[in-house]
Amino acid sequence: MSEACQILHEWANGLQKFSHNSSTEELPKNGIYMVFEKGETAHGTDRIVRVGTHTGQNNLGKRIFEHLYKPKKDRSVFRKHIGRCLLADNPFLEQWNLDSTTKANREKYKNIIDFEKQAETEERVTQYIADNFSFVVFEVDEKAERLRIEEGLLSTITACEKCFPSKSWLGLKH
Ligand SMILES: [Zn+2]
Repeated sequence: MSEACQILHEWANGLQKFSHNSSTEELPKNGIYMVFEKGETAHGTDRIVRVGTHTGQNNLGKRIFEHLYKPKKDRSVFRKHIGRCLLADNPFLEQWNLDSTTKANREKYKNIIDFEKQAETEERVTQYIADNFSFVVFEVDEKAERLRIEEGLLSTITACEKCFPSKSWLGLKH
């Protein structure tokens, strides 16, 4: 299994890398994205730390930017998780975990959540992502195909004995 993962990593690392400076117009409309993080390596290349796709048609760029760069953690498990790691020893973590997407919840939590602190944390998450992450994409037009391939990539990486986080990986903090 790690041989397949080696091939996957070599191929993925050879694709054009994008970052927070990229524009959605440079990306295909439909496809799969794979994320790399500074300091994380495997197979002599950058390690794939995340694989993702989208269900809505023609939505790839929007989904990536929502996940990585939009300061709305309740719309992105990825951002929420990074925030949890950054807040690992911080009492604000408890508030960060609350979902303030809906109006009803914002009302409900208005005296509980420190929204200024929340905005600051969103900012930190965005900064962390901008400083540390890059991503590659490849085009897959059909939704069913995307989901199938995403699953295949994830199981290849999960089954690999050579893909593991560095000791200082932020993801381990939570
Ligand atoms: Zn691997």
